[in-house]
Amino acid sequence: MKKKRVLITGGSGFLGSHICERLLDEGNEVICVDNFFTGSKENILHLMDNPFFEIIRHDVTFPLYIEVDEIYNLACPASPIHYQFDPVQTTKTSVHGAINMLGLAKRIKAKIFQASTSEVYGDPEIHPQPESYWGNVNPIGIRSCYDEGKRCAETLFFDYNRQHNLRIKVGRIFNTYGPRMAMDDGRVVSNFVVQALRGEDITVYGKGDQTRSFCYVDDLVDGIIRLMEDTPDDFTGPMNLGNPDEFTILELAKTVLDLVNSKSKLVFRDLPSDDPMQRKPDISLAKKTTGWEPSIPLRDGLIKTVEYFDSYLKSQ
Ligand code: NAD
Ligand code: UDP
Ligand code: UDP
Repeated sequence: MKKKRVLITGGSGFLGSHICERLLDEGNEVICVDNFFTGSKENILHLMDNPFFEIIRHDVTFPLYIEVDEIYNLACPASPIHYQFDPVQTTKTSVHGAINMLGLAKRIKAKIFQASTSEVYGDPEIHPQPESYWGNVNPIGIRSCYDEGKRCAETLFFDYNRQHNLRIKVGRIFNTYGPRMAMDDGRVVSNFVVQALRGEDITVYGKGDQTRSFCYVDDLVDGIIRLMEDTPDDFTGPMNLGNPDEFTILELAKTVLDLVNSKSKLVFRDLPSDDPMQRKPDISLAKKTTGWEPSIPLRDGLIKTVEYFDSYLKSQ
């Protein structure tokens, strides 16, 4: 494979750090751009000795002038508590960030990947969700800064494609988990694993009968790279990327308790507003186009995640 120079925005975050690592392993030069809002240097510390790895502290809502072959645009807080912390900034990050990265891609004729999300489907009325579904999104709720920001980013990607012939790849990522999730970002897998390891109560929101489909990070990264590298230039997506194995939140809680062998008790808290009731990707497009499908079952992925948080907590 030809050595490329690749820009990864949000490269010090959970998913971004795994993509940096993977692209460096494949012999590329990687430039990580991040404002460290939710990302951390610890996630990329092990890459810093590599002379082909660079870090730029930069906020994507401002223009960026560099020369690269490819761009992976992941900069955006991803967990509800982080994206709701400063909702205006969240929308700006998705929208202004997309405009700047698309303007950059246009000037240097780079191929560009957008980390979109299953949240574009909102609280879906169609199950599982195919890419052709337009979604059921509240435009004025507490999740809207993220959902509508990501939807507008998709619009911008497709207009730059139609108007400027830009090579775009839009991946709609479903709930992904694994090592390097931020311990305090409030997502369900990190919350439950950390609570179980500490012997604290496991906080189930609502009755726990809402569903999610959880993808282990290595599978997801493989799907993203295949979308970017193995599809023809005129293939834009959007493409769902996630694991179709669906679980209720209560099932997840019980699996974590079992794996950690924890004495933690389940406690029930109010369900946040607009929390989607069900979510499961239809991944037939990804399978047909790239041959990709996840291979790591929830239990196996959770074991690796528990190991990570266990050693992380012990090192604190
Ligand atoms: P994360 O919070 O770990 O990573 C996001 C990164 O973006 C962080 O390093 C953060 O500091 C950086 N960032 C935020 N705002 C920025 C800005 N204005 N300028 C520069 N950097 C900025 O979250 P993640 O789970 O790794 O998510 C990465 C991307 O994937 C996000 O765009 C997210 O919306 C998308 N996504 C993730 C999931 C998932 O389950 N993990 C699901 C759907 C979509
Ligand atoms: N941009 C950037 N880096 C570049 C080129 C453009 O950050 O190398 C930003 C710039 O801020 C611009 C945005 O991308 O506002 C959109 O660029 P485009 O060329 O599409 O539009 P215009 O410059 O006409 O607004
Ligand atoms: N959730 C929960 N307890 C927690 C954190 C989350 O029951 O401590 C629930 C949350 O209400 C949602 C699901 O788990 O129904 C997934 O939440 P997460 O924030 O991980 O992702 P998203 O809602 O964005 O899919």
